[in-house]
Amino acid sequence: MNDLTGKRYDMLKVLNFVKVTPYYDNVWKCQCDCGKVVERNQSTLENTKRFHSCGCYIKQNLIPGDRERCSKAGKQRAKIKK
Ligand SMILES: [Zn+2]
Repeated sequence: MNDLTGKRYDMLKVLNFVKVTPYYDNVWKCQCDCGKVVERNQSTLENTKRFHSCGCYIKQNLIPGDRERCSKAGKQRAKIKK
């Protein structure tokens, strides 16, 4: 078994091993840079195509104001087309 303890995946730092899933995947306890502790499958952590965080990274990029602005801009564009 690969020991991921102490390894860092973007915003997640691996704290310790938790368990093996019924699908022979390892579950690791990770701490996000924001302080939140989450459990992640090893296969998920080793997927380099995605950005790893507890989920706060995505939330930070989708603040409600931004969403509103996007939909407003979309409406304006629709008006111009007419
Ligand atoms: Zn976080």
